[in-house]
Amino acid sequence: MAFRPDPWIIYCPDCGWRRICAPKSDTIMAWENPAQCWHCHGDNLQRGPLTVKDRIALVWRQLRG
Ligand SMILES: [Zn+2]
Repeated sequence: MAFRPDPWIIYCPDCGWRRICAPKSDTIMAWENPAQCWHCHGDNLQRGPLTVKDRIALVWRQLRG
């Protein structure tokens, strides 16, 4: 049975880069769980819950496929 984890955000406190991670299954791909910031390559990434705005953006993304 496929189990879909709750989405989360990853953000970089150094440069402000952030992205929403929303795996489609329990198989989390490398790009869903980066170890380094894609922008400044810092390894200080933090995880956090989605804001309401993030959830809306995610719904739009899923609607557009
Ligand atoms: Zn960064």
